[in-house]
Amino acid sequence: MYDVIIIGGGVTGCCIARNLSKYDLKIALLEKEADIASGTTKANSGVVHAGFASPREYVKRDVCIKGNKLYTQAFEELNFSFQRIGSFVVALEDNQIKKLEEQRRQGTQDGVPGLEVILDKKKIKYMEPNLTDDVVGVLHAPTAGIVSPYGMTYALAENAAMNGVKFFRNQKVRRIKHQNYTFIIKTKDKEFKATNVINAAGVYGAKISKMVGLDYFDIMPRKGEYILFDRNAMHLNKILFPTPTKVSKGILVCPTVSGNTFVGPNAQNITDKKDLATTEAGLKEILEGGRHLVPNLPVRASIRNFAGLRAVPDTYDFIIDNTDVFGFINVVGILSPGLTSCYAIAERVSEFLELLGANMTIKEDYNPIRPKPEKFKDFSKIELDKKIKEDPAWGRIICRCETIPEKEILNALHSPVGATTVDGIKFRCRPGMGRCQGGFCRPRLIEILSRELNIPYEEVMKTGEETNFLVAKTKEIVLRSLEGGSEE
Ligand SMILES: Cc1cc2nc3c(=O)[nH]c(=O)nc-3n(C[C@H](O)[C@H](O)[C@H](O)COP(=O)(O)OP(=O)(O)OC[C@H]3O[C@@H](n4cnc5c(N)ncnc54)[C@H](O)[C@@H]3O)c2cc1C
Repeated sequence: MYDVIIIGGGVTGCCIARNLSKYDLKIALLEKEADIASGTTKANSGVVHAGFASPREYVKRDVCIKGNKLYTQAFEELNFSFQRIGSFVVALEDNQIKKLEEQRRQGTQDGVPGLEVILDKKKIKYMEPNLTDDVVGVLHAPTAGIVSPYGMTYALAENAAMNGVKFFRNQKVRRIKHQNYTFIIKTKDKEFKATNVINAAGVYGAKISKMVGLDYFDIMPRKGEYILFDRNAMHLNKILFPTPTKVSKGILVCPTVSGNTFVGPNAQNITDKKDLATTEAGLKEILEGGRHLVPNLPVRASIRNFAGLRAVPDTYDFIIDNTDVFGFINVVGILSPGLTSCYAIAERVSEFLELLGANMTIKEDYNPIRPKPEKFKDFSKIELDKKIKEDPAWGRIICRCETIPEKEILNALHSPVGATTVDGIKFRCRPGMGRCQGGFCRPRLIEILSRELNIPYEEVMKTGEETNFLVAKTKEIVLRSLEGGSEE
């Protein structure tokens, strides 16, 4: 019997898990996919917003402003990639300056530090030389930053696991029964019991809520497409937003913590919660949008297109509710800026649990530090020589584009809540994220996964069930067909 079960291993669920792991509670997290950070958390802009953009009456504005501030401590404790580089909201017409002034005034009143409207074009271009000459002014937010959304989520999960949280992946919640103040949660092959349940199931949040009879909101997906450019194709100093529209913050041009640049996202309301396809029209739209801000986008250096789904609730605001079903907490409809807000959301959830009578005594052995993963690129030549002597896996380069040695891959596999799939490795330590997008290193990754997990090649998956790259050995297929079997 658990004190708390969290449903959903995105940034929201993992951040709640990590925050609760400091208390004397028995906690489990259930994730339907083969890995955590497989939903919206995997594909978004990775911007830590300053917090002035959402309407003032929304909960998401409050938790975003608080969440941004909490990043400093989290970064120090969890050692994920995060840089406070600052953002520009860009005005291209004189009449947009009024909007920027309004955002500055209200943002400052609500506690966003350092906001400044800059009209001096020379100064603006000095701060961001790639910006269009058509700029007439910008709202500078120095506390905005960039983060690896999945990198941070892995760090949160690792630290939560170090502090006792149990992670169960490949566990899709199918039914929840509530009787005698106990939730009985059924997955395909397991049953879990808990006193409290936290629903952090992203776009599927309404479905989980309905399982306990709570049918008071709906969630629809809104797709956002992106184009990613090669590392070092362009060096942006700032996150660049256009002056916003009603439905979205607009198409931005932004650097990533790994040195890439991207343009996107657009905003399309869709119905299929699995539709992550990019379209020609969508990519055209984001390129056109991005070029308004940065005319010389390095289109020839584009290495990947991808899409993410915002979980849009019918209230358009985050749903963070201690519900009428005693012990059931909804943390859903966490659209943008959910990544920024996660630390503040997690604090709210702790307050709810205290009200529900959970034991919120801080454990004596709680350790908030997640050690920094060692990286080949961070070592000096002397350090590297020493490392290779200690363990030759540091010297075997598996991904040439990103210079990733076998040792980093082994560490990603054997860390707490470690990778079990090819994408799990790719997102943890970047083999396959470079220019060739895995063309060279994927077979080697399959080999390493097969060896380390002690499974045949055919059982090595890209992301989860039925995503294997290999079906059988070529010779076996030929032999089978010669013996009269099917060639398939
Ligand atoms: C295009 C786009 C751009 C964005 N940009 C930003 C940004 O720059 N800054 C920012 O702050 N925010 C941004 N966001 C928002 C941010 O990405 C989300 O707020 C955040 O990722 C939501 O995380 P989550 O954990 O709530 O959801 P998810 O990451 O979707 O996690 C939910 C998890 O629940 C699991 N699950 C679902 N059903 C079940 C079940 N039945 N049983 C078990 N598990 C289940 C899913 O598999 C999934 O892993 C953006 C979002 C999008 C789509």
